[in-house]
Amino acid sequence: MSASPALDAILARIAAAAQAAGRDPSGIRLTAVSKQQPWEAIEPVLAAGQKVFGENRVQEAASRWTGRRQGLELRLIGPLQTNKAREAVALFDVVETLDREKLAQALRAAADLAGRLPRLYVQVNTGEEPQKAGVAPLEADAFLDRVRGGLGLPVEGLMCIPPADEPPGPHFALLAKIAARNGLDRLSMGMSGDFETAIAFGATSVRVGSALFGDRAAPAV
Ligand SMILES: *Cc1c(COP(=O)(O)O)cnc(C)c1O
Repeated sequence: MSASPALDAILARIAAAAQAAGRDPSGIRLTAVSKQQPWEAIEPVLAAGQKVFGENRVQEAASRWTGRRQGLELRLIGPLQTNKAREAVALFDVVETLDREKLAQALRAAADLAGRLPRLYVQVNTGEEPQKAGVAPLEADAFLDRVRGGLGLPVEGLMCIPPADEPPGPHFALLAKIAARNGLDRLSMGMSGDFETAIAFGATSVRVGSALFGDRAAPAV
């Protein structure tokens, strides 16, 4: 038996959702969202062979993963402040939350200094929620042009977090449409409650936290 029945169960659900959508399961990666989880919850998932982990804060990720990240892929899935760009470039393999020009410039400068550039996803605020990060859907094409053309930053794909109180399908469909018309084929979408729906709409990576590790500790205030 694997070290983590919970991981086995999520991978089986991903494979079943892929099959139901007529997709090859190997085209969908699991990002295990380890934010706010105790090490005892993460350790068995790591031992079972999971290699990709998602974190939403630079500081917390550094304290959890420094010295342990050999062979792993770390993805930043939370908002990034420009003054943390250098640290993020040093720590993360992927930054999924590029959403404004200032941040693109800071990442460009940090990458030039470090000689290392994380893979980048642009976050789109598909629900146009004022409290949520991400570029507005109507601004996404122009933003992608400026980032890729103007700043010469390669973009790997798009990421979204649909509004909590709406069916997620239309948001996933919108993200897929914006990606397609911009020549992007990677979509980070779907969380514990909706990753199977996201797979039906073309997700290439899903970000699963609580369904894999259990409920998170209350966030520190
Ligand atoms: C916390 C978080 C997740 C994981 O959420 P669960 O519902 O626990 O799976 C996924 N994506 C982002 C951006 C997050 O902040």
